[in-house]
Amino acid sequence: MLRRFCPICASERLSSRLPARLPRPAILACQDCGLWVSASGPSEAELDSLYLSDYHKSWGDEDVCDDAVSRMKRRTFANFFDRLAHHRTDSGRLLDIGCAFGASLAEGARRGWDVYGIEISPSAACVAQRQFGSRVACGDFRSLEVQEDFYDAVLMADVLEHFAEPVVVMRKVCSILRPSGLVAINVPCVDSLSARILGAHWPQLKAEHVFYPSRKSLELLLARTGFRVLSLDTSVKRLSLAYVARILGWYPVRILSPIAQFITTLLPRCVSELPLPLLSGEVLLMGQKAPAGNFVN
Ligand SMILES: [Zn+2]
Repeated sequence: MLRRFCPICASERLSSRLPARLPRPAILACQDCGLWVSASGPSEAELDSLYLSDYHKSWGDEDVCDDAVSRMKRRTFANFFDRLAHHRTDSGRLLDIGCAFGASLAEGARRGWDVYGIEISPSAACVAQRQFGSRVACGDFRSLEVQEDFYDAVLMADVLEHFAEPVVVMRKVCSILRPSGLVAINVPCVDSLSARILGAHWPQLKAEHVFYPSRKSLELLLARTGFRVLSLDTSVKRLSLAYVARILGWYPVRILSPIAQFITTLLPRCVSELPLPLLSGEVLLMGQKAPAGNFVN
């Protein structure tokens, strides 16, 4: 069924002036907040079947938890935890929604956070549970039972765009945070340079990404769900060229994929596996739970 409303601002003005660079009719653009949204899918059943398979296999062919990938992921998460520390001097309870194999939890625990995670992919959750036991739940955050005002911080790295109802999800995130609790959201952004240049060939356009927010829509989302925006910046991830080539092999992009794979084959492994600070078309949004009742509808 064709989508009729923007999932964040609820505008019905979708696709009336669709930018020519977007694939039609797969993506619609909201004329009010600038967000892009998948026109008709994916359905919950399609998403479930995707996550039930080896969803994180794109991280590596054989051992998705190999040392190089783990080190690279932890360097990226170190940046996210630095940002949390900028707004909060002491650590506390932290929930990572979409914790995958637990690299974020390992980095958080090293910094003194009391870490918890939830992961929808059973194969990834199983790996994280080996290290963190019952602190990692396998399932969908929307059905996770957790008491209100429990966590001091919530991390959402590369997960918000997988939910069809971001307002519902963020209101739940707000409810489980203590007063003044923090949320760190890393998400693809349509205002990024790569989205503007690559358009229909933007590597972030994936079947499992339901929507792609603009900066304006992210600010609106937090205001509507009980948060105030602390910062909204271009996200810099630590990514190796070998990892980028692997992802572009898994999610093929015309011209870009063969170029990345060719360059990687020319480089010695010690260079191709080196984590470099790269822009990936994403933003890092930091929010703080606002005083009760401070919602914008
Ligand atoms: Zn909108």
